[in-house]
Amino acid sequence: MIGRGSTMSESFDVAVIGGGIVGLAVGREITRRFPRMRLVVLEKEERVGMHQSGHNSGVIHSGVYYQPGSLKAKLCVAGAAAMVEFCREHGVPFAVCGKVIIATSEEQMPRLQNLLERGNRNGVPGLRMLRPEELPEFEPHASGVAALLVPGTGVTDYAKVCEKYAQLIVARGREVWTSAKVMKIRTHERKTVLETTRGDVEAGAVINCAGLFSDRISRMAGENPDVQVVPFRGEYYDLVPERAGLVKALIYPVPDPRFPFLGVHFTRRVHGNVDAGPNAMLAFKREGYSSGDFNLRDAVESVTFPGFWRVAVKHWRMGKDEAQRSVSKAAFVAGLQRLVPEVRAEDLVPGGSGVRAQAIHRSGALVDDFQFTQTKRMLHLYNVPSPAATASIAIGEAVVEMAAGAWGW
Ligand SMILES: Cc1cc2nc3c(=O)[nH]c(=O)nc-3n(C[C@H](O)[C@H](O)[C@H](O)COP(=O)(O)OP(=O)(O)OC[C@H]3O[C@@H](n4cnc5c(N)ncnc54)[C@H](O)[C@@H]3O)c2cc1C
Repeated sequence: MIGRGSTMSESFDVAVIGGGIVGLAVGREITRRFPRMRLVVLEKEERVGMHQSGHNSGVIHSGVYYQPGSLKAKLCVAGAAAMVEFCREHGVPFAVCGKVIIATSEEQMPRLQNLLERGNRNGVPGLRMLRPEELPEFEPHASGVAALLVPGTGVTDYAKVCEKYAQLIVARGREVWTSAKVMKIRTHERKTVLETTRGDVEAGAVINCAGLFSDRISRMAGENPDVQVVPFRGEYYDLVPERAGLVKALIYPVPDPRFPFLGVHFTRRVHGNVDAGPNAMLAFKREGYSSGDFNLRDAVESVTFPGFWRVAVKHWRMGKDEAQRSVSKAAFVAGLQRLVPEVRAEDLVPGGSGVRAQAIHRSGALVDDFQFTQTKRMLHLYNVPSPAATASIAIGEAVVEMAAGAWGW
């Protein structure tokens, strides 16, 4: 699957840093649009898709949540259709199973109504409000005062999508180097040299898709970005197989609009198991998948960034609730029981976890939309959180379009 690589210096027209779903989608799009361009994708791990892209909920989002006109809205709607098509064409498992977003109190009704309007403005097909008596037809064990049906939502296995993107890049004669960590970046007038653990790479242009490390890569290149990536760990529980029948497809709460995450939900995965989560806890290690994980450099970088404390002060109450859900299974279960009252603590066993890269602006604002920033010889993808896996094909197209404009390809 992986291109040859070497331990000597090699020259390319373009290097993509990061073999997650976004870097690979960008690489694949380059091979499609510019078949003669020499490309390498550099990934520090032994395999592609080992971080956010291989530790997520696997949902093909439809696009109801995002601000109309935003990149997230446009690229999610276009990307969801493209992802379904891609999975069908390349034999990646997927299911378009639909989901319900449930208001559990009258107070949440205006927000649910707002999601319907947003979704319609974003061009999400088939949205419909369900009355409480209609809900059992879709989710017999769920309860609420109303629900929004999102029929086009699906599930897939994004780790498999990553493998397929990489295979397609290599099949077109381009290179994907694994175990190639970018350690140092030297910029020259006409080229950039990336020192990697597999040797030096010279590139005319560099696209930084390093996910949880995209800000650090930018600083390595001598830049001073306005944003800092802050890691948020999300923990899952699995429903034991004998209780998986409580959930037919996907059951989501109405999200709190002040917070960038969707709230703990139930997901029937593409392989049939059901999980619940993820919560969202500030993490002190960028790739720290366990609650005790700590990395001094990552922690110091977070807390010394000016915007961090502004975010912490603004969101402390939500943070407190999430922390409670992290340390107390009872609090986690109570959140889930609002959606499916029959679920009990003994139905849930600890599952996996993932770490989200969320960019925070120096001013203290959480960066809401996708953010791509171009400098002279580099393009940085600083903020590509959910729904970036769904939207990856459309992100690849948008980023390559930007690169083509910037560098006259
Ligand atoms: C818990 C969780 C649930 C989610 N659920 C969904 C969902 O259901 N649907 C959805 O659409 N999205 C979801 N997302 C979001 C989605 O997974 C991410 O937006 C997407 O995977 C981001 O892809 P990426 O390629 O930018 O990052 P990553 O997958 O993290 O890839 C970045 C890569 O860069 C590499 N790298 C870093 N530094 C270097 C270096 N110095 N040299 C070489 N390589 C380097 C890393 O090893 C990594 O492989 C979820 C995310 C999480 C964490």
